[in-house]
Amino acid sequence: MLKFLNKIGDYTKDAVQAARYIGQGMAVTFDHMRRRPITVQYPYEKLIPSERFRGRIHFEFDKCISCEVCVRVCPINLPVVDWTFNSEMKKKELKSYSIDFGVCIFCGNCVEYCPTNALSMTEEYDLSTFDRHELNFDSVALGRMPTKVTEDPLVTPIRELAYLPKGVMEGHEVPHTAKRAGLRPEEIAEAASENK
Ligand code: SF4
Ligand code: SF4
Repeated sequence: MLKFLNKIGDYTKDAVQAARYIGQGMAVTFDHMRRRPITVQYPYEKLIPSERFRGRIHFEFDKCISCEVCVRVCPINLPVVDWTFNSEMKKKELKSYSIDFGVCIFCGNCVEYCPTNALSMTEEYDLSTFDRHELNFDSVALGRMPTKVTEDPLVTPIRELAYLPKGVMEGHEVPHTAKRAGLRPEEIAEAASENK
């Protein structure tokens, strides 16, 4: 009889424990149901980078005077500036220029110090390749006009993480019903047409 009662006691304890675990799980589920989803369906949706985002570097061959300031200010002496001295014109002539984005830390020093503004930061961030050698961009690849998330017809641009309400750093904490701090591009276009 005692054995039977012990078994009933154990069973009740297990049942209570299981109910508690289910309750805890459901509490997490309900908590998440109240929250705003912040998952981005990449690559069909992409976040619009913030205004001062430091992405792939753009290089303008014609502006470069081969001064190599970019190499000196780079913490890892990364840009490769290949030039020859034109004795007739008595000035340097740029032959090729390259930056390996597999090594670059996107600090922006080269862009900051270039005396002719031949370098600029773009908002391109999806640079992944299957072969790391493909990340070594020559002057042609560096000179390609940058793509913009907002101008890609195949992508839905999302203005979210970079545009959370002032002082909010964690998107999960913003309730589902809270108004976005920023507008989506179509909302901006709509507002602009209403103002006309
Ligand atoms: S962004 Fe920084 S690490 Fe990259 S090439 Fe320029 S100076 Fe060097
Ligand atoms: S600092 Fe500017 S101008 Fe000088 S070598 Fe670098 S890219 Fe060319």
